[in-house]
Amino acid sequence: MAKKNILIVPGDGIGQEVTAVGKKVLDKIAEKFGHEFVYDEALIGHAAIEATGNPLPEESLTKMKASDAVLFGAVGHPKYDNDPTAKVRPEQGLLKMRKELGLYANLRPIKLFDELLEASSIKPEILRGADILFFRELTGDIYFGEKGRNEENTYAYDIAGYHRYEVERITRKAFEAARTRRRKVMSVDKANVLENSRLWRETVLEVAKDYPDVELEHQFVDAAAMLLIKDPKRFDVVVTGNLFGDILTDEASQIAGSMGMLASASVGDSTGVYEPIHGSAHDITGKGVANPMASVLSAALLLDISFGMKEESEAIIAAVDAVLKAGFRTGDIADANTPKNMILGTDAIGEEILKRI
Ligand code: NAD
Repeated sequence: MAKKNILIVPGDGIGQEVTAVGKKVLDKIAEKFGHEFVYDEALIGHAAIEATGNPLPEESLTKMKASDAVLFGAVGHPKYDNDPTAKVRPEQGLLKMRKELGLYANLRPIKLFDELLEASSIKPEILRGADILFFRELTGDIYFGEKGRNEENTYAYDIAGYHRYEVERITRKAFEAARTRRRKVMSVDKANVLENSRLWRETVLEVAKDYPDVELEHQFVDAAAMLLIKDPKRFDVVVTGNLFGDILTDEASQIAGSMGMLASASVGDSTGVYEPIHGSAHDITGKGVANPMASVLSAALLLDISFGMKEESEAIIAAVDAVLKAGFRTGDIADANTPKNMILGTDAIGEEILKRI
């Protein structure tokens, strides 16, 4: 029995619809496992701009810092997508949230449900059994180094760099996670060419001494990109820098088929934020057809990572699996063979998940 404060931050578009299902699932877990989850809500993104003029109001930030975990939806609105000159934008809320909460590690589990093997562009026999957890460093690297152009505007540069402490803290998180999985860490760098990658590798080797029970493998990023498609099953936990992680996690998301199925976590030294990888999807907002599974799986990640509730987390994943096995689909993961009556809307598929927890 544990008492926890969870902040629900639905944001915009389908963010509202899918986090509502995520919250119901958390409620069900609390009831079933005898925990007490206390909820509050906060504004972010377009919804916050409309209400306050600010994409991340101080009040929301204060609530985030005070909570034990945040279940987040998505931000975005077509109004801004078509107006790159807008000074106040929904995504500013997201970036500020990450910065203010010091969320330096982005975790993206690539979990494949057998029933959806056919939805991937990779052959089922190569994919079956793949289960990968990415740790992408989120606050350093070439994105945050000095950048500029020469006076003639004929040359531009972006400096890529890592501090030892930045590599060390995310590597520790990756090794800790590996201990709860298959005890394998792959560190991805480009140490044959880049000095900052050599520092990365040295630091990872140093940290690894504290985890003799975990197997460590190094791969260059080009080889890792190839192996991900050739043999995804050999991956367990992957730890990598911001740029390589950006590219590899998008590549890996295709292994799992649909955006509506993928959850992510951003964690640091304070409150963790759990969210689907998809955006606010205004093309389907208000139609009640959004797939809530990414949000539901984000809730599972929240329980596992922020609260250490492994069994509860697995109960959610098993329920999603059972719903898929029973043949239920949302529109995004249905195919030509799915009977019409098995294609459900957001709330109805949410109910099917609840029933199976
Ligand atoms: P998107 O992820 O919102 O949608 C891409 C496509 O996938 C759309 O056709 C959408 O209908 C579909 N889709 C996404 N999630 C789905 C779900 N759960 N169920 C069924 N179908 C789903 O990306 P986009 O269209 O490029 O961007 C829309 C808005 O979202 C933009 O304003 C963008 O800036 C924002 N965005 C926000 C985040 C975030 O908050 N983390 C991430 C990406 C994009």
